Amino acid sequence: MNDNLLVDSLQQHLEDKRVQKAIEVQSDIRAYLGEFFRKHGFIEVPPVIISPITDPLNHPVLDPSIDYYGMKYGLTKSMIFHKQILAKELGSIFTFSPNIRLETPEKEKTGRHLSEFTQIDVEKRGASREEMMGLVEDLMVGLTQHMNSERASDLKFLRRKLNVPSRPFKKFRFLDAEKEYGKDFESILSGRMKDPFWIIDIPLENREFYDRESDSEPGILEDMDLIYPEGFGEGLSGGEREFLEERIRERIKRKGQSEEQFKWILAYSSKGLAPSAGFGIGIERLTRYICGLQRIEDTHPFPKIPGKLSL
Ligand code: AMP
Ligand code: MG
Repeated sequence: MNDNLLVDSLQQHLEDKRVQKAIEVQSDIRAYLGEFFRKHGFIEVPPVIISPITDPLNHPVLDPSIDYYGMKYGLTKSMIFHKQILAKELGSIFTFSPNIRLETPEKEKTGRHLSEFTQIDVEKRGASREEMMGLVEDLMVGLTQHMNSERASDLKFLRRKLNVPSRPFKKFRFLDAEKEYGKDFESILSGRMKDPFWIIDIPLENREFYDRESDSEPGILEDMDLIYPEGFGEGLSGGEREFLEERIRERIKRKGQSEEQFKWILAYSSKGLAPSAGFGIGIERLTRYICGLQRIEDTHPFPKIPGKLSL
């Protein structure tokens, strides 16, 4: 893109009143989230930006690395391993974690992928998946109430009617939903539902090695996705974690991944990680849902759109 066009389009974006409102609402969402987790006994920790260990993800992204005088660092795709380590030492933690995932260009079409975004990433030592799901349900109910009372004029400007969901949220088991609605079950259900809902018990091949495999149902993970209604799609992923060295090693092997890549996490687990559960919520996707926006780039002042050069 020509330099002037790039600058003009950024200026147009930043002058768009909807974008300005979304950024303001997002500031409030961040404050609400921080306060919510602190109130529930979670300690805020600083984010990790570069590290030799990061999330392998379960889908292809470009994988840049930094060679720093012979030391090889990656850019954080998620802080999953740092969270596990911190949960062991500190108990309950959260962080606003910038993630770089150089998504492939076709992801631009989804309206919910950026190459740079922020997760509020949460982990708790000794927690079960169900405890964490309960916490998220409380959060979503409280946040939507807060938005409807404190941000009514912004939501009106954005023509957004935000439903306050009731607890407990509906749960669909992955394989049951797939059987009933076919491969595209997530977007079909997201389009039909009026309130956020859960997809749970995700088969092992669909997820990374660090989510805990069920003891009673081999091949099924103790994990969950929160799906926003009205077609907004996935907003959160999480679960219980594997923490025993031998089980982590075995899961890396079953994924066809190399032990070398995860030697640090294997070394740490050999000294003993603790059982924990947690999740990550994409701040921009949450803002998109709260504001009822078509496209995720309207939630970010400097959106990195897959396949496009952005400032
Ligand atoms: P994951 O554990 O990979 O599901 O990521 C956790 C959360 O981060 C997701 O549920 C989304 O809310 C958010 N997220 C993941 N990838 C992206 C992306 N490319 N752009 C924006 N948000 C994302
Ligand atoms: Mg996910």
